[in-house]
Amino acid sequence: TRERGTIKVLMLPWLGHGHVSPFLELAKKLTSRKFVIYLCSTPINLSSIKKRVTENDSLSLELVELHLPTLPELPPHHQTTNGLPLHLHPTLKQAFDMSSSSFSNILQTLRPDLVIYDILYPRAAPTVASSYNIPVVQLIPTAAALISYGLHVFQKHGVEFPFAAIQPRGPRRAPPREAPVDDDTKERFLGGIRQSCKMILLNTFRELEGKYIDYLSTLTDKKIVPVGPLVQDTNIVEQNDSQIMQWLGTKDEFSTVFVSFGSEYFLSKEEMEEVAHGLELSKLNFIWVVRFPFVEKIELQEALPKGFLDRLGNRGLVVEDWAPQAQILAHSSTSGFVSHCGWNSILESLKFGVPIIAIPMKYDQPMNGRLVEDVGVAVEVKRDENGKLNREEIAQVIRKVVGEKDGEDVRIKAREFSEGMRMKGEEEIDGLVEELVQLCNEAKLLKN
Ligand code: UDP
Repeated sequence: TRERGTIKVLMLPWLGHGHVSPFLELAKKLTSRKFVIYLCSTPINLSSIKKRVTENDSLSLELVELHLPTLPELPPHHQTTNGLPLHLHPTLKQAFDMSSSSFSNILQTLRPDLVIYDILYPRAAPTVASSYNIPVVQLIPTAAALISYGLHVFQKHGVEFPFAAIQPRGPRRAPPREAPVDDDTKERFLGGIRQSCKMILLNTFRELEGKYIDYLSTLTDKKIVPVGPLVQDTNIVEQNDSQIMQWLGTKDEFSTVFVSFGSEYFLSKEEMEEVAHGLELSKLNFIWVVRFPFVEKIELQEALPKGFLDRLGNRGLVVEDWAPQAQILAHSSTSGFVSHCGWNSILESLKFGVPIIAIPMKYDQPMNGRLVEDVGVAVEVKRDENGKLNREEIAQVIRKVVGEKDGEDVRIKAREFSEGMRMKGEEEIDGLVEELVQLCNEAKLLKN
């Protein structure tokens, strides 16, 4: 049988910051328990991962390059981890599926004992691994609520989802994730879950999502293992980040809100206006990360309301493109997080006890927003009857969550989560390690 120190794990995260981070955190936990980790991605994506690995002493892993075929629709900048243009997903998936033989070579050279792959990872790779009798385990970097909702909708036609509070609908809410009804989407989702893996790891934890984890277990015959929160480290500050941190350091304790809509969503002109005016009306300090699509050459000054930056003075900092989110959330000057409710953002906010002003936009975000409001750590900014954001409402919710009396429960709850997470042991990971060793040994027995 295999001993831990000799088990080789090949990790296949999907591209994009929010997908790579939980894999790197899981890698850290597994290497500290003597697993040997290889992480495979495309050369462009690996170059930014390499930086994160060399800057982080506690992370030791081997990087493995997967070369994609050149497709005419795939522009050269396609795989930056700081934002993966979503319209490229289908082409990228196609490119990954066309690279099965390169992947097969990687497997033959490395001979891993186990493959851990992202739910979004194109199907070809885990299928090839299974054909070599290598056990495959899926890591889902989103909420259990979302996955159980998706499975419920597909499996139990017409039956009401048992958890009404997080139903992705309701008046004055962000547009719901459209129930993917067409056969193709349905097949892709179910196919993703049904793949040959026996075990699904989720980046979540029982205190946050116990009932959804349990419900998900009833909907699938796979072993569901919550391994979260897998949240990135805060001890690495990059050169251009230090200015932001210095600025934040000059602000009073609990005085500043952090505003970010993640790595994949770009605000429309109208949304920019409402958020900018909302921040101005709130009269609070803020750091706001503003991002524009790579191909559109937009000037910051033009995208913001006229005179906004001048009026702002030293009260706010508008950062273009990227800010060290986890460090900012961990900082004592930070009092609230105006967030699009990406799953990583939520976990980071909870880890550092920062209450959330939820402005979910699309995909899984509306459901995530409802979930955090339901557990009491967030208040969602309501929209008008046409689904539009409104500056007064934004300002009012910010003020409520970070300072006013009727937001006190939310602030207390966020702090409680943070304390609970700090005290949380690593038993889940120890349990997981036992399971993974067993899985590898069973596969070995089958092969021999
Ligand atoms: N992030 C960051 N700086 C930014 C924007 C995002 O560090 O300016 C990180 C953030 O800390 C999180 C991830 O990128 O770990 C975003 O993941 P999330 O699931 O919240 O949203 P997505 O980008 O997938 O929409």
